[in-house]
Amino acid sequence: MDLGLRGKVAVITGGTVGIGLAVAEGLAAEGVDLVLVGRDGGRAEREAVRVAEAHGVTAIGVAADVATAAGCEAVVDATKRKFGGADILINNAGTGSNETIQDADDAKWQYYWDLHVMAAVRLGRDLVPTMRERGGGVVLHNASICAVQPLWYEPIYNTTKAALMMFSKTLANEVVKDNIRVNTINPGLVLTPDWVKTAKQIAGEDGYQAHLQGVADEAGGMQRFATPEELAHFFVFLCSNKASYSTGSTYFVDGGWLRTV
Ligand code: NDP
Repeated sequence: MDLGLRGKVAVITGGTVGIGLAVAEGLAAEGVDLVLVGRDGGRAEREAVRVAEAHGVTAIGVAADVATAAGCEAVVDATKRKFGGADILINNAGTGSNETIQDADDAKWQYYWDLHVMAAVRLGRDLVPTMRERGGGVVLHNASICAVQPLWYEPIYNTTKAALMMFSKTLANEVVKDNIRVNTINPGLVLTPDWVKTAKQIAGEDGYQAHLQGVADEAGGMQRFATPEELAHFFVFLCSNKASYSTGSTYFVDGGWLRTV
């Protein structure tokens, strides 16, 4: 299906591996030009070249730490230099935490606040005006089911992802008049290379698949991980005009893990 996205420009933080890279591939398949952001500039560059060649689009890799103001500025500068602005912003960079409230210090709370919330604030503040100039746009936030259904071992992740959801709703209200749609997606379990690496560390080469199945069994619902591609389809749809009446919402893509309505 042609989603009418050809020629649009998308900035994807954490677009170099896992979910963000799958979204990049999905958008590139629709003819979207890309800015792929990660701290590892070599990987960002490699993936940008590969995706661009595979789909005949223009893509650049940007090495930046979006948990800092300077990193966000670098992303905005590179986007403006190459494309003049953006039509789509996907705030996806993020990672799990592991602590108790009793033991985590202020610095850890601050880091995750900067990564999960301030990156979205800063990039939204600077890229939304370029969307306005281009006649509209889309901002998507990749939060997590943990934003509403907390896991006991990552209180900082739960809290900052919940804040990201509220930021998304508030931004949606502010820019609805500018033809800019803003939504949040809350994934459940998505099988990225990082999950596999961690499972191998915990259970070894022979035991990691059983370990991952145990995680999925515990979640319930479909009792399996999604592939990054399964999730990416949802992102790509929300970027397109087929989702033209959708803004200010949160969508759970979690295989039935959420235990409430
Ligand atoms: P991965 O760990 O596979 O990839 C994370 C991406 O973010 C990488 O491209 C990484 O690149 C980038 N990144 C991390 N920190 C920074 C930073 N400070 N500045 C710039 N880039 C950064 O993550 P996933 O694909 O699993 O997750 C993507 C998002 O989805 C996250 O926000 C996560 O919380 C959310 N999510 C994931 C789920 C899952 O099961 N996988 C479930 C629910 C939500 P680099 O290391 O080079 O910086």
